[in-house]
Amino acid sequence: MGAATSLVTGGAGFIGSALVRRLLSATHDGRVIVLDALTYAGTKDNLSGLPAGQAARLELVVGDVRDEALLAALLRRAAPDVVYHLAAETHVDRSIDDPRPFLETNVMGSLALFEALRAGPRPRKVVHVSTDEVLGPAAPGVFLSEAAPTRPSSPYAASKAGGEALALAYFTTHALPVVVARPTNHFGPRQLAEKLVPLVVCRALAGLSLPVYGDGLQRRDWLHVDDGCEALSALAERGEPGRVYHVASGEERTTLEMVGAVCDALDDLRPRASSHRELITHVTDRPGHDRRYGVDASRIRAELGWAPRHDLPSAIRATALSYLDPATQARARDHLERRGLGR
Ligand code: NAD
Repeated sequence: MGAATSLVTGGAGFIGSALVRRLLSATHDGRVIVLDALTYAGTKDNLSGLPAGQAARLELVVGDVRDEALLAALLRRAAPDVVYHLAAETHVDRSIDDPRPFLETNVMGSLALFEALRAGPRPRKVVHVSTDEVLGPAAPGVFLSEAAPTRPSSPYAASKAGGEALALAYFTTHALPVVVARPTNHFGPRQLAEKLVPLVVCRALAGLSLPVYGDGLQRRDWLHVDDGCEALSALAERGEPGRVYHVASGEERTTLEMVGAVCDALDDLRPRASSHRELITHVTDRPGHDRRYGVDASRIRAELGWAPRHDLPSAIRATALSYLDPATQARARDHLERRGLGR
């Protein structure tokens, strides 16, 4: 039997590139193909610096997941064993400003992928990456199971709910072997500076205010990206087709607590006259901002034996450290300038 091939859509993004690294280092001969449109959120840099033996087994196809003809040709040529579908528009704020690209990529892009997969050749497993946000808010102390109805609040979450509904429909109607992952908030290296942790690091290092929406008491579960990718691997290996799996660390924090923890790490790594916490500034809340997400992740723990390995304080420190690299800082500053967030 030949070496296994994985196809990762969105593999030049934050989670996708961590997954690609994981897949390449897990075997000595497995091949990985990335399909990525390299939007503002994706970059080849996220896939650079691999050991030569791993780089040789990686192929980047620059293309759009909505391009069904491209996907069909790619599937015929590569016949991947596993497809990980991560390509998406991912920033909630942007989905409020203009939801159209979200519907186009997250719904119609998923549809194009499933149509191409239906025609074949079919992989052994399709791991569709959704989000806990499809469930909408949960009251304090409530942890929703996979059977709870979806109640998305933002256009982003609505588009992700559409994508995962299609994934499950293709299992039911066409027996496509899809599993759906609903992970919580990821953090870790190579995340784009529009997301909370790298945004805080980048602005704090520049001595700029650290904007926190509303009272900052929104509660989220925080998952290190490598733990999230380990869960995706477990789903590819042992996930039951047609099933949804919540992926959560159990480390719930308010936005203020998370920003404070990043500031504490920076106080240690890059001391300044006063704590970076003094830069925290409350700004007008995001419309429709859910107060809390709460998902019960006991299914993936009990059935697949997955558990997070990272502890939050040291993972936050390691993540902050990864953003101190000058080239990473320069990229982050450039992004913030273009987004008008650099001052
Ligand atoms: P990201 O924004 O960092 O990366 C998305 C990638 O998709 C980019 O490389 C981009 O170029 C690519 N892409 C976008 N539109 C495309 C298109 N039309 N065709 C091909 N490629 C396209 O996102 P991320 O944080 O790595 O998230 C990956 C997946 O995980 C997404 O599906 C997201 O909804 C989901 N998710 C993310 C989080 C999180 O905390 N980051 C949490 C839960 C679920």
